[in-house]
Amino acid sequence: MMAYPNVISCDKETFLKSKLNQEYFRVLEIKPLKGIAKPGPVYEFSMTGWSQRSVASKHPILGRTEELSQYEMYLHNAILQHQQDFTRYRDNKFAIAFIGPNSIGKTRLLEECLVNTPKFIKYEKFVLDHYDKVSFKGFHYILSKVFTGSKSFRENSENRVRFSIDLSYATPIQIHAVNIVFDCRFPLPENFQHEEDLLDDLSVKQVIRNVWKRQFKNLWVAAIDNAHYLDDESWRVLLIILDTKTVFMVIALSDDEEHTPTIKNCLENSMIVNIRLSGIDRWFHAALACQLLDVQAIPADLEKVIETASAGMPGWIQNFVISLVQRGALSIVTVTREEAIDLGAVVPSSTLLRRTDVHIGAQYDDALSKRLSYQSIYSILSISAFSKQGSTFTIQEMDTIQMAVLAESFNFDDITMDMSMDAVILKTYDSLNPYEKMLLKCASVLGDVFSRRMLMHLLQNDSPRTVALAVAKLFVIRVLECEGGDFTRDLSMVLVHPAPTLPSMAPSAPYCKCLGTRQPACCEDLPNYAFCGYMKFRHPLFRSTTYDLLTENQKHDMHARALLYLERFTRRCLPCGGGCFSKFVGLRCDDGLVQESEAVKRTRHQIRALKTETVVPGDQDQLSVFAHEESSDFAIHIIPECSSLELLKKERSSSRFLEMKRLKRLRNKQMKKGVRSFSSVETNNCECLTILMTVYSQIIDHCRGAGEFNKLYEAYIEYVDINLISLNVPQAIRLLIEVENFVQNEDLFPENVHRKWIKRFQLAKICSMRGVCMLESGDLAEAKKQLLHAMELYYYPFPTSKHWVKLRSFGASLQQLMAVYLPKIYPKRISGIIGYYYEDIAFTLNILYQLFSECKETENAKLEAKCALNYALKTNANFRLLCICYGNMISVNREERNFRRCLKLKERAMELCHRKRGQLDVTEVQAVCYLYTCMFLFYVEYGKKMEGLELGLSVIPMLSDLTDLNTRQMLLLWLLKLLLADLRINEMVNIIREFFYMTDHYDLSSETWYYFYAIVILLDTGYCVESYGSCEKFYITKGDAILRSKTPEAAWNFFVAMWLITVRIGSWEQSIIWEEKIRKILSMKYKEHEFNIMMLIRLVEGLLITLVKETDQRNLNKILLLKKSIKSMFRDMNKACCRAPMYRPRYYLLYAYFLYIKKRKLQAFNLLKRAYESAKQCKHISLLIWIEHTRSHWRGTLTQACVDHWIYHLEPDNLLDYTDFDPEKIDIVPFTLPLPNDIEK
Ligand SMILES: [Zn+2]
Ligand SMILES: [Zn+2]
Repeated sequence: MMAYPNVISCDKETFLKSKLNQEYFRVLEIKPLKGIAKPGPVYEFSMTGWSQRSVASKHPILGRTEELSQYEMYLHNAILQHQQDFTRYRDNKFAIAFIGPNSIGKTRLLEECLVNTPKFIKYEKFVLDHYDKVSFKGFHYILSKVFTGSKSFRENSENRVRFSIDLSYATPIQIHAVNIVFDCRFPLPENFQHEEDLLDDLSVKQVIRNVWKRQFKNLWVAAIDNAHYLDDESWRVLLIILDTKTVFMVIALSDDEEHTPTIKNCLENSMIVNIRLSGIDRWFHAALACQLLDVQAIPADLEKVIETASAGMPGWIQNFVISLVQRGALSIVTVTREEAIDLGAVVPSSTLLRRTDVHIGAQYDDALSKRLSYQSIYSILSISAFSKQGSTFTIQEMDTIQMAVLAESFNFDDITMDMSMDAVILKTYDSLNPYEKMLLKCASVLGDVFSRRMLMHLLQNDSPRTVALAVAKLFVIRVLECEGGDFTRDLSMVLVHPAPTLPSMAPSAPYCKCLGTRQPACCEDLPNYAFCGYMKFRHPLFRSTTYDLLTENQKHDMHARALLYLERFTRRCLPCGGGCFSKFVGLRCDDGLVQESEAVKRTRHQIRALKTETVVPGDQDQLSVFAHEESSDFAIHIIPECSSLELLKKERSSSRFLEMKRLKRLRNKQMKKGVRSFSSVETNNCECLTILMTVYSQIIDHCRGAGEFNKLYEAYIEYVDINLISLNVPQAIRLLIEVENFVQNEDLFPENVHRKWIKRFQLAKICSMRGVCMLESGDLAEAKKQLLHAMELYYYPFPTSKHWVKLRSFGASLQQLMAVYLPKIYPKRISGIIGYYYEDIAFTLNILYQLFSECKETENAKLEAKCALNYALKTNANFRLLCICYGNMISVNREERNFRRCLKLKERAMELCHRKRGQLDVTEVQAVCYLYTCMFLFYVEYGKKMEGLELGLSVIPMLSDLTDLNTRQMLLLWLLKLLLADLRINEMVNIIREFFYMTDHYDLSSETWYYFYAIVILLDTGYCVESYGSCEKFYITKGDAILRSKTPEAAWNFFVAMWLITVRIGSWEQSIIWEEKIRKILSMKYKEHEFNIMMLIRLVEGLLITLVKETDQRNLNKILLLKKSIKSMFRDMNKACCRAPMYRPRYYLLYAYFLYIKKRKLQAFNLLKRAYESAKQCKHISLLIWIEHTRSHWRGTLTQACVDHWIYHLEPDNLLDYTDFDPEKIDIVPFTLPLPNDIEK
């Protein structure tokens, strides 16, 4: 694809069809592709599947030969030892720790180690930061980079664990440990408690090692930078997995003072080699300075100062040299080498400046991969030693070189006195002109990394040229540098896509690697980095120092302006229509459910007036992108030659009117249609979550800086919500701690009389959110505690006695009856702050419903669902909340089989969906998915196929990886059945390909479902998606591991379906491999579960066919046994059919067949008639055909070809491909149920 240069890319279809391991694919970011409206996800293919090999820096590393050879030696030792069963104590070294103070060059050394790692060894680099000191979080971060897959991290992790070990043999403590260490949620026995230290338990250690060993067969290298930020528990886990000898770790961490006792303990372990780094030798100082300045010679004075003051710290030398450049003390001239030497400059050997060993590395790899021996390593070391000795002769004696020169007036005295970094920074700052200072101040408000656009907004009205000149200056003196943004597909004003890293070696500063930035016509003489679109402070200290120079008022003003920018320009992504988010920093937009508040109206007008104010050159077309779209929520309409006032006038007169008319028409149409499809939702291309994440992470700082405390609270709560949607629970918990501190300590509304109340409700909201986090992480007890506390804070405590629950439940039912049947009169609408209070209560109640449902406390759950809906209806304005409430209520009534109430609720919920104006946004999609799935399941149970299909199919495009697993599973399970009944084979195949056939080979349950449905299509229609042979092959390669998957039901169903095929074609030899499984199934107890009726129905069919066979052979014993078990199964099925009416016709058909075999023909024909009636009633097309077919067969009116049709087409040469199926004609010939020989037709 042209849009993705230098990458092997493919679309989803190709990706799925390739059947290659998922590890080899990575999802690429979305770019608009020419001529393709909805390209869907695009994948990059690479055979390594691991991190790209990093590019060697163009300069050689200086003075670390000893450390590098140690690394190579121990790595080599590890390569030799890792396959051995026994390793001697002194050879058991699987980690190397580089310990040293800041700016000693640890990160650079780590990189160099990776460059020197042989190519056949995979590696991954992990960089920790100070947020990571949460128990086990560091280890989870490491896992998230190596346990990759198609699902969310937790699901990937669970799949891998299931794949590695058989959890049915694990003790509760082991499962608990796996849950905590690998971030899984495997079910634990009820009331399981564990207080002791988990990682001390021997069986726990063993289970961790087993998982790890199964996952990594080959030795790989893990490079961990800033390991002092790793939490204690993660350190201990790392120590445990070192024992497996499957990973070699190279760790960089700071000096001892900061270490916790645990870290100190771990470092003393004999498997870890500790190497303390000191400064580099002084004869490398000049070379390093040359490398940093990208010159070949420096003045002797400079070398002397560095030698005396630096203590050999490479980081110090870097800062020092840069500070000299920033102050204009150094300039660069071109001279010949001889001239330089004559001038007394220090000219380091060129081998110290230019990398010569790049090609050697390649040789080394080949040699090593062919033949592993000490000799090869020795030869490498000697070559590099040789090249260092050869430094005395220089190749190009006459060549011109770049030399750094100190300014005439420059005097080192004042520098050597105060060498602290902030003093240097302040001096640099003083040397700038006022405009440059101003620009830096604005930038410092925005953060370490900032976009040019926001900077322009803060600077307001300056000409592009002035800004460009200042930026260029700051780039040259290396205060700022490019962060690399991709503006070619720049569709949001607040989100900057990162530009791809350059494949070649990093160019020398200053440079800009942004894509798609433009130079205005007046500035063509300026270098391109003057127009960098995405910049950062080269030194974070420079930012904080500059920021501290601002007065409180200035800070306040600038933060307020930045906040305004974010508020104005935070829009949904283009595929989602680019409109406002339904809720943003406490403001809700008018989505048809709420009255638009004054504040929102104001923002809208501001947006329209923006054109005159802040359009950055080159941005016009970006803005006009928004104008193209015409969704009914307010897009930003910008008509270029029009003042804002004119715009307002125009809008009031014409467009408003037209819009109202259009809306009315649209709404009427939708009302008639029934289900609102929300077809515009595009989960594949949506970037809204990323946009929101970016914005909230900035907005919190700005709210704080601008003193907007109320907004700050809202922003925090919404940010937590977004984190929960994207399943980032640790981040959510951290934010909740922050906001709780802030609410507790800050007096928000000193003049408001209700401030105590408000504080109380805010704390209640925080508690509820924390409850969600706990529920998400599986800690039900803590979740309950938090939620009940929240309810107390709301002055609405949960009833303490059963009696009280009943009473309240009765009241709530009454209220709800009124609300649902008399929606116009009851309840009274409440808005404003009291309305929000009710909505918050409803939110908490919904979570409690979820909690009680999980704890199987049905009565309590019911009560909470009812109360929640009642509260939510008081405002009747919060779309997301109402969707969840209606969904919960519909499931409650479905459980009680109160279908009339369900219908009424569904009616109200549909009204709600039609009232909703415009497109859904990312925060609402899940709620609608949930609501529709609940309604869909109700229709399934109610036996209405067409209504169900319509609802179910409209959810499919909204599904994403973020949808709750249970919802996803139930929906797909039933939807596929309905589609099959309707003979919509092609749609069915599309869905199973999309949702099940992901080649993530750790996710076995999905794959098993895929093969199961392929077989079911073959069984019921005779059309082939996957042949019997390929399904059998799937089982042979995966074996019984599929029984350990997330849903073992998938495997059991698959076995039955496979067995049925062999039984139908009468290939008794082939059926033997399945027989054992069938016997196991027959001995199992069935719980009432959706999966079991599926299985029973096929099992009975197979047994009936076996019965016919045995009757022919007159095996009386077997006949009796079979009849007995068949009878009991029919009883089970009859019961199950009440919950799943769509199985009833099939039940009748099979029962009729049973009677026919028993020669009770009259009854059999009668029952067949009943089967026909019931199939007709639930419009089960495929079964109607089968029943007709069977009737003709019994009457003897079928031709022989027709009788054998199904079996004939099962032969590998005669397969009917499913793509040949013509949905118009519906020409399927079903299987003919065989009859005993002695029955006369
Ligand atoms: Zn740039
Ligand atoms: Zn979106």
